[in-house]
Amino acid sequence: MIIAIDIGGTKISAALIDNNKIIQSRKTDSIIHQDLNNLANYVVHLCQDWIEKAHLVAVACTGQVGKNHVHFLSAKQTLPLQQQLNTGFGLPVVILNDAAAAAWAEYCLGPKRQDNSLVYITVSTGIGGGIIQNGQLVTATDGFCAHLGHMSVTCHAAPTIQCHCGRINCVEAISSGTSIARQASQILKTEVSCKTVFEQYLAHPEIDTLLEQCTDAFVDLIANIKALTGTTVIVLGGSVGAAIPFKERVIAKIAKLPSIYQVELVSPMTGEHADLIGATIYAQTINGFRNATQ
Ligand SMILES: [Zn+2]
Repeated sequence: MIIAIDIGGTKISAALIDNNKIIQSRKTDSIIHQDLNNLANYVVHLCQDWIEKAHLVAVACTGQVGKNHVHFLSAKQTLPLQQQLNTGFGLPVVILNDAAAAAWAEYCLGPKRQDNSLVYITVSTGIGGGIIQNGQLVTATDGFCAHLGHMSVTCHAAPTIQCHCGRINCVEAISSGTSIARQASQILKTEVSCKTVFEQYLAHPEIDTLLEQCTDAFVDLIANIKALTGTTVIVLGGSVGAAIPFKERVIAKIAKLPSIYQVELVSPMTGEHADLIGATIYAQTINGFRNATQ
């Protein structure tokens, strides 16, 4: 069996998986922003009773997941997480970025794509991504790869918006749930959540304008991805990606792009456990490859 773990900024999910089916699962609050140095111990403790049944640990993790280290972008801290988990579990550990894991799940379990390519974008508190080209998940040694939220786009909402990565006008700084809520709060002069924005935008023309600007910026990202990868389909996940006032505007604006930039935008097939299942399928491939070449 495989222990699968999804380490996010607010929640950590874990599951015991047999034959790509979840046997048991559990969820707890994340400690990334409170006690990051204790993360590995915390995760091992969460899965303690599964260890003797498992032969492999598959991890989907937020942040820049490199070959040897994970850099947590928002916490600005780096951990040798694979080595720490390997020691803690006493099992082989494969880690990949959480959006990359979801992309891999969509690619492996969704409809067969003729060109063996797919791009997955999740828009929720942040914006993440995963790219599959010619049947391969695109990765980089330092893990800074397919972080689609940190591509710079045209911003009509303000002359410049500073991103936490250090760059100006990253799409995450303009169109993520956190950024939409922050900009709407400034306009309305009261603290509002992104959910409230989607519920009340019809009553506030200036918030409707903000949504237009944020979706313009997001469709700029879509056009850039099409030019970069040539993908014909983009899977749009995440709570903001699923919100009708966001998604319908994006689909309408893609249809107005020059034809070479147009892509089919589809909803995810794999549901709430996409990260866990994607990491599990990927870890078996990678671990099998390692074993075969040892
Ligand atoms: Zn950025």
